[in-house]
Amino acid sequence: MSQAGRAVARVELEAVVGEALRAWQQEHPRATLDEIVAAVDTALLPVRSAYIGELAAAEEAAVTAEQRCPECGKGMQQRGRHRREVLIPGQASAIKLERTQSVCSSCGRSLFPPR
Ligand SMILES: [Zn+2]
Repeated sequence: MSQAGRAVARVELEAVVGEALRAWQQEHPRATLDEIVAAVDTALLPVRSAYIGELAAAEEAAVTAEQRCPECGKGMQQRGRHRREVLIPGQASAIKLERTQSVCSSCGRSLFPPR
């Protein structure tokens, strides 16, 4: 991520997470440390999903750019984009990713990132 991108991310993080947590604190002024930790974790979930999706998209672009079969080295053909739901430890619900499926025209090996 570029420096400008990081600055935008910090502003978005403050807008989404900071605001939600201050509202939560107004409603729970005597929260225990465990309750505070749980509230911060919950508030960070959408941000976590957004970053995972962004990094996975960059990984997909690198894989698609290779265009060579990892088994036989022949050319790969793209077979359209498909939605994939991925469960990640610590994430309450599946993250939805849209990915390009590639199939080897020689050996039939299929790539559907992320690995
Ligand atoms: Zn192949």
